[in-house]
Amino acid sequence: MRAAVLEEHGEPLAVKEVDYPEPGPDQVIVEPEACGICRSDWHAWQGDWGWVGAEAPEGQILGHEPAGIVSEVGEDVETVSEGDRVTVPFHLADGSCPHCRAGRANVCDTVIPLGFTGIAPGAFAEAFPVREADFNCVQLPDDVDFTEMAGLGCRFMTAYHALSDRADLRPGDWVAVHGCGGVGLSAVHIADALGAHPIAVDVREDKLERAKELGAVATVNAAETDNVAGEVKSIADRGADVSIDALGIAETCTNSIGSLGKTGTHVQVGLTTGEEGGEVSVPVDAMTMQEIEFHGSFGMPLVRYGELFTLIAQGTLDPGKIVGETLSLEEVPETLASMDTYDTVGIPVITEF
Ligand SMILES: [Zn+2]
Ligand SMILES: [Zn+2]
Repeated sequence: MRAAVLEEHGEPLAVKEVDYPEPGPDQVIVEPEACGICRSDWHAWQGDWGWVGAEAPEGQILGHEPAGIVSEVGEDVETVSEGDRVTVPFHLADGSCPHCRAGRANVCDTVIPLGFTGIAPGAFAEAFPVREADFNCVQLPDDVDFTEMAGLGCRFMTAYHALSDRADLRPGDWVAVHGCGGVGLSAVHIADALGAHPIAVDVREDKLERAKELGAVATVNAAETDNVAGEVKSIADRGADVSIDALGIAETCTNSIGSLGKTGTHVQVGLTTGEEGGEVSVPVDAMTMQEIEFHGSFGMPLVRYGELFTLIAQGTLDPGKIVGETLSLEEVPETLASMDTYDTVGIPVITEF
């Protein structure tokens, strides 16, 4: 089968023939019909995240935002069948540790990130295996389109968890979204749909325009001001109630915290680059005196998919709105490279494998 393989960090991915995967007893094989290309793939390609033990090894098949059809089923799998339409969260869990049992499988003790480690080859391929398939496979409703569901494995669900669970978003809240890539645009759309007032921040006008189409009530071009936080605060009256760093560089993190009013909530969604190496200094005294909360947010617990699908079925949320261009597996190396300069708008989705 064909797959896009990371042969050397920073060098173009190689699209080549590899062996079709065999399912282990607890596994299924999924043939993706759609898979998003995410900034996390770009980080993996760069060789980032060794500082949290998550550097993708050379030889890795990347790809972690798939929606597809089950093609083979391991002998111990009970609830997933050949032909099922599924997505999987990028954080493949064991289903049995205390966090999984408490409904927080996104922080599983033995989490295996899809497409970042040799034991979980990713979905930039004609097929990929899913561990603990009974636990990790999420059945897609019959009437949804695979391409529109590509963000459900990572960015769309990440934004949903960040806003609805970690920030406890309320209608009427002012929400600043720093960075309007796939997760940022998802956050703008979700905040708007849930009755909040999103303010979009980015350095690119085309992304800010897309944010406006998705419901941003105001935008701030960070390339045109040296006081992003001040501008957000002036728009949001007393400062944002919730602010998200949807990129993960020092500047967006500190701008996000600075955008908040008293008792506001910062949610860190983006993981950092080689520049920060996992460390950003934050204004702890100001945060303390203003009772500002800092939340980390990682993926989404599996138990939350039900509510997400209900909101999609009701028409409140539409993940298809975040999809950008569609492309073939052969075009993945070039598209990933274009993320060096933040050239993609919305989520690029592979639809031809
Ligand atoms: Zn992702
Ligand atoms: Zn677990």
